[in-house]
Amino acid sequence: MARAHAPSPELGAHLTTLYDRFPFQRSFRADPIAQIRSYCTDRRHAEVAALYGATLAVGNTTAIRGSIRHLVELAGGDLVRVVRDRGRPDPWRGFRHRWIRGDQMTYLARRLHAIYDSYASLEEVFLEGMENGGFASGIDSLARAARGPNGGRDAPRGYRALFPSPLDPQHSPAKRMTLYVRWMVRNRFPDVGIWNRIPMGELRIPLDQHVFWIAYHLGLTQRRTRSWATVEEVTAALRRIDPVDPVRFDFVLCHTGISGDCPKRRDIDVCGPCAVRPDCRMWRPVPGAS
Ligand code: SF4
Repeated sequence: MARAHAPSPELGAHLTTLYDRFPFQRSFRADPIAQIRSYCTDRRHAEVAALYGATLAVGNTTAIRGSIRHLVELAGGDLVRVVRDRGRPDPWRGFRHRWIRGDQMTYLARRLHAIYDSYASLEEVFLEGMENGGFASGIDSLARAARGPNGGRDAPRGYRALFPSPLDPQHSPAKRMTLYVRWMVRNRFPDVGIWNRIPMGELRIPLDQHVFWIAYHLGLTQRRTRSWATVEEVTAALRRIDPVDPVRFDFVLCHTGISGDCPKRRDIDVCGPCAVRPDCRMWRPVPGAS
């Protein structure tokens, strides 16, 4: 069994140093959020573009950015118009990103059309769930709205799996939907921050594989699998460091992994200058070892 590895008292200071030294502009250009921001001409365009961007956030960032660009080009540059027209005429026939297909994207446009018939904003959908049961219920509310009638059983094949919920029996970490809500709520770089009724302190970490690896190795969680419980554990540890903005370090931790700044093994040439090396499981001494 792996030994317990609690965060050191200095972890907050070390994460802050990592953050302060981080080459944001390099990683911002590589991140889908740079592209999403260019489509955020108003609230509706921001919500729609970010939801499509987050839904396509599977795989490497270069492919994700290429697929978002392609999706928008096929929509004639206006995703909101496609939503307004209920996905007709189908602009995304033949579109593909990994296992995600154009017919699923068109169905999402129809769902968004139906949602906007009843709600002024997706923030209201999220808040309706959150007010009944906290953040996970907010994500669940968004997921249910996106899935549509009968839990998405009337949707194209595979569509329902695009919108997992932490309240499903699998207790999904719902990485793409937590990322979407981070983009919408955080009003600090690099996020969009147009939803202002949800406190940043309520956000949960979008737990992708890079963030999970480093969170585990910094002792932010002892769990070995990604689940909603792991999301809550990592977020609680980060909230002790920054109660106002617990996901402040998400972008940096994620891109430390994506960029190769962290080799995910002991390598003194790369790890030497790493600000969190004193906290890293790879480098902390094993208790009792001579
Ligand atoms: S010390 Fe090395 S392995 Fe650990 S987080 Fe830093 S770069 Fe990654």
